[in-house]
Amino acid sequence: MTNGVTSLAPGLYLVATPIGNLEDITLRALRVLREADRIACEDTRQTQKLLNHFGIAKPTLSLHGHNEAARTPDLLAALEAGERIAVVSDAGMPGISDPGMHLAAAALEAGVAVYPVPGANAALTALVASGLPTERFLFFGFLPSKAGERRTALEKLREGADERLTVVFYEAPHRILETLSDLAAVWGEDARVVLARELTKLHEEFLRGTVAEVREALTERDKVRGEMVLLLDAVPEARVVAAESVGERVAALAREEGLDERDALKRVAKERGVSKSDAYRELQRERGKR
Ligand code: SAM
Repeated sequence: MTNGVTSLAPGLYLVATPIGNLEDITLRALRVLREADRIACEDTRQTQKLLNHFGIAKPTLSLHGHNEAARTPDLLAALEAGERIAVVSDAGMPGISDPGMHLAAAALEAGVAVYPVPGANAALTALVASGLPTERFLFFGFLPSKAGERRTALEKLREGADERLTVVFYEAPHRILETLSDLAAVWGEDARVVLARELTKLHEEFLRGTVAEVREALTERDKVRGEMVLLLDAVPEARVVAAESVGERVAALAREEGLDERDALKRVAKERGVSKSDAYRELQRERGKR
């Protein structure tokens, strides 16, 4: 805004911010942030750093997962009165595994204009350089953090996949090894994956290979760090190999090789690249589902 004059139309602006490299802010994003009346931020301190870097002084307010619903009526009233409100998250596109979606829906419902201001997004950034098919992809976001729910979510995904597509997950470094074990169990060890770490940052890295290879590469490290996107080449034929449940495999090993449950579980764990206790837990979960 210069001398109180703005060219920005009233409404809600969903503004993408960089996912690491500050050069990835767009000229339009900077203009909108400069000209908006207020900026709603997932974390005001985080956004303040960005605003300071670009010399933007603007009132901010917090809008995060826990207060988005409560804040919406006040923000709607301000928008209906003609304010220009920009929404930003800590990184990337607001509304994508981040706050913004509810406010945008409420604004549209109230007849307020909603303007997307596109820019960086971790899922698409990872996808285009993954080497996996980009024609059809499914953005999954974060898998459930509880082991049983995560496995169930992956199984549902497998059951629903009827043609090849790339599935894009957001994942946290402390859970990536477990998730890769779950993928091995559900899609097979040979399923192709790509792990995209620290995109657009100094230590950007792509690990490409089978689930087993990528998991092994990570276990060789002292610590798995950084932000990451995991992509799976979801080929329907692959699921045929992995579709056998732990229970079915244990029964088959008992039938065909005379193994007792303990030895059969040991074998299943080895085949699937998971620990014995994980295989046991999975067996219990399957039995609980019956
Ligand atoms: N709204 C963001 C977007 O448009 O990408 C995503 C927000 S979500 C809360 C954060 C997750 O995105 C991280 O846990 C990670 O999975 C992924 N992510 C964000 N920045 C990343 C980066 N620079 N490299 C890899 N993954 C990233």
